[in-house]
Amino acid sequence: VSGPLVVVGGDAAGLSAASEARRRDPSRPVVVLERSAHVSYSACGLPYWLGGVVPRREDLVAVPAEELRLRRGIDLRTGCEALWVDPAARRVGTAAGEVAYDALVIATGARPVPPPVPGLDTPGVHQLRSMDSAIALDAALRDRPGGRVLLVGSGPVGLEMAHNLCRRGFDVHLVEAAERLVPGFPADLAARVAAALGEGCVTARTRLALAGLAPEGEGVAVTLRPREGADLAEVYDLVVLGTGVAPRVELAAGAGCALGAGGAVRVDRRGRTTVPGVWAAGDCATSWHRVSGREVWMPTATVATRAGRVAARDACRVGGRAPALLPGVLGSWVTEAFGLGFGATGLDLPAAHEAGFAAEAITRTGRDRSGYMPGVEEVTVRLVHDGPTGRLLGWQAVGGCDVSSRLHALAIAVAAGMSVDDLAGVDLAYAPPLSALRDPLELAAAAVIGDAA
Ligand SMILES: Cc1cc2nc3c(=O)[nH]c(=O)nc-3n(C[C@H](O)[C@H](O)[C@H](O)COP(=O)(O)OP(=O)(O)OC[C@H]3O[C@@H](n4cnc5c(N)ncnc54)[C@H](O)[C@@H]3O)c2cc1C
Repeated sequence: VSGPLVVVGGDAAGLSAASEARRRDPSRPVVVLERSAHVSYSACGLPYWLGGVVPRREDLVAVPAEELRLRRGIDLRTGCEALWVDPAARRVGTAAGEVAYDALVIATGARPVPPPVPGLDTPGVHQLRSMDSAIALDAALRDRPGGRVLLVGSGPVGLEMAHNLCRRGFDVHLVEAAERLVPGFPADLAARVAAALGEGCVTARTRLALAGLAPEGEGVAVTLRPREGADLAEVYDLVVLGTGVAPRVELAAGAGCALGAGGAVRVDRRGRTTVPGVWAAGDCATSWHRVSGREVWMPTATVATRAGRVAARDACRVGGRAPALLPGVLGSWVTEAFGLGFGATGLDLPAAHEAGFAAEAITRTGRDRSGYMPGVEEVTVRLVHDGPTGRLLGWQAVGGCDVSSRLHALAIAVAAGMSVDDLAGVDLAYAPPLSALRDPLELAAAAVIGDAA
């Protein structure tokens, strides 16, 4: 019997690591320390539970705690925070005593980063990150049915929340400090997102930063600062902050692990930190970008679960056909709000330039199926490629259709190192109700090589 594998963090990365270890190396004891009462739930599904699309929050639980304990044989300890790590003695400290490890996987996730304004502790001000924070927000929403809610920040989660709070009948307002909604998304594509929000029930304003919060009767007094002109004073029933996240690294840093991109725990392609016997995975750890080759911080669920499995295989020294090395990330993401899907994969134009490519971009709008078919939707794609070689570097897409399957295809093309010429020549399938004779992906690639209609 090998020594225990101890995992800190009981969500996507941590439980992927723990379950993989039990599957691959059943003789090895696995202990999971999770400080909250909730494990193995989909944080990604929280906005949909809050919007009533997912009726019960238990539906978000992938594997119930009892199954993890009884069927998978994981020694799962909830309400148990890891306070320190002594890598020389191979021990983790908790309030209930010390836990010895042979191998340690740190999967402590990320924390929300509020804007630097006074009054963050005002009652009625919420952040959405964990099941506990979602339960608190749900209780506040129940207290104020149909109330005025201010969302601060227009990243993918902010926009998902906007849609879901509309579904629940709230009067939803959104402010974004940047020039436009979905910061980082190309202007022409972001404009379609803004239009969809306007057609929904959301009042969205850009170039408007949160400057202060304070109690006001039963609600929250909000100070908003425009780029020009005087501050605005407004009152809301609730405020939800969605202004970004940062890796939670205190435990790993305290153990002496080096930090890298985004302030996350630096790991190699096996998930090993710089401290022997300690691995890190998920939102607390770095990744490397498949296209730029650079170290990046990419806090997404897909990256977290894969990283957890790879770290566990390495920590348990078990192999098989499953990859021993992290394959690198593309930064792929996708979401949907008010019937519009949008997302990206690979490098956008500024990131491609930054990475040293002589990159160019082209935007094309086409249809998702034949124009005469009911339900036809427009899809706009922006293709980023290396000018001299034609290599595909990245894509952004927006459309009132199944954008994610297009982004999957594009991610595969980028990962495979395909060129625009390759893509323009791929034999795609066509049937009027399902696809267009020339898909927008093909149209964009064809336009680059001068084979456009
Ligand atoms: C609202 C929302 C929507 C999202 N939507 C998407 C999406 O659509 N697609 C996508 O890919 N990603 C999405 N994400 C991101 C995704 O949820 C995260 O990337 C993923 O949860 C990361 O998993 P993790 O295990 O690394 O971290 P976490 O899920 O944050 O888990 C870390 C765990 O560690 C515990 N912990 C921390 N410190 C300690 C300690 N010292 N001792 C014990 N326990 C500790 C925490 O309590 C927590 O349970 C979303 C996130 C949120 C919040």
